[in-house]
Amino acid sequence: MSEAERRAARWVRPEVQALQAYQVAEPGDAIKLDAMECPWPWPGALVEQWLERLRGVAVHRYPDPGAGRLKGQLREAMGVPDGAGLILGNGSDELIQLLNLAVAAGGRTVLAPAPSFAMYRLLAAAAGAEYAEFPLGEAFGLDTAAARAALEAHAPAVTYLAHPNNPTGNGLDLEAVAAVAEAADGLVVVDEAYYAYAEASFLPRVLEHPNVVVLRTLSKVGLAGLRVGVLAGHPAWVRELEKCRLPYNLGSLAQASAEFALEHRAALDTAVARVRAERERLAAELPRVPGVEATWPSETNFLTFRVAAGRAQAVYEGLRARGVLIKRLDGSHPRLAGCLRVTVGRPEENDAFLAALAAALAA
Ligand SMILES: *Cc1c(COP(=O)(O)O)cnc(C)c1O
Repeated sequence: MSEAERRAARWVRPEVQALQAYQVAEPGDAIKLDAMECPWPWPGALVEQWLERLRGVAVHRYPDPGAGRLKGQLREAMGVPDGAGLILGNGSDELIQLLNLAVAAGGRTVLAPAPSFAMYRLLAAAAGAEYAEFPLGEAFGLDTAAARAALEAHAPAVTYLAHPNNPTGNGLDLEAVAAVAEAADGLVVVDEAYYAYAEASFLPRVLEHPNVVVLRTLSKVGLAGLRVGVLAGHPAWVRELEKCRLPYNLGSLAQASAEFALEHRAALDTAVARVRAERERLAAELPRVPGVEATWPSETNFLTFRVAAGRAQAVYEGLRARGVLIKRLDGSHPRLAGCLRVTVGRPEENDAFLAALAAALAA
């Protein structure tokens, strides 16, 4: 052990040392269907105009600290209720971190259903918060009795509900979400990262509850590289959360690019509509692949499916060897044994995936 390793082991908080950094697979030249990215770049016709816009950005100055113009566009594009406050983050991951720091840090508890988004646990630990979970119900729906019991047992400062849920893909029943919000004394965060692919949203109801905020992101609708996350909620929460936000967390190139993209929303909407159509096709074809044992309805831009227990790793590697990168869920939670997750890609990518999957399962 080097002296640096000894010092790091002595001083980095034990709960951080116990974590594993978020793992991102190196795609090489594989077809990349592992991270819920939109498979289409911006239409070529927009690229010159976009670059022209960026040329005008004064990068020797700090960005607009409040991202006022972008917030205005997001309010309109997302239909944020009048009277709700907004905070933007460097991706919604940063907003989860911010929420944990402001509300749960210092030994309070973060609660989330399981299985759900891996960052809730990681960012709770990073903030020095406790983490507790309760099981999702049948078909990965929200089990309000299990939620109530967990609220009672843990009195969490923050409860995360991903609607629709990652990594299972299903939307939650919004009446159940409202019931959990009512049963909770602490903050309930409805994480709508997949709002564009979902049938219903909690955002119109966010002000009906004194303890709810809604998260959204531009990552899953074609702008993952910009890192723009959105939090909407009562100004009383937003005012306090603002104190923990870094002053210039959204760079000026990201702000200008997101503004430009929202001025050309039709291009984003077209890509989302094509992904939804491809999702329906994949959802119809996936169960017909011999060896696929189960699929789940998806209100997201990915599909979760199950192969025989014990085969998931081999199927993942078989796909990889055939040039397709997806995500292995098997091993992350007992209820995801045998499960894999594929992001919806372009039609030809989805065809390549289906062919590679059939081959990997037949091997
Ligand atoms: C992808 C995802 C996020 C984070 O997205 P950002 O890229 O950080 O905006 C948050 N929550 C869920 C459930 C997600 O799947």
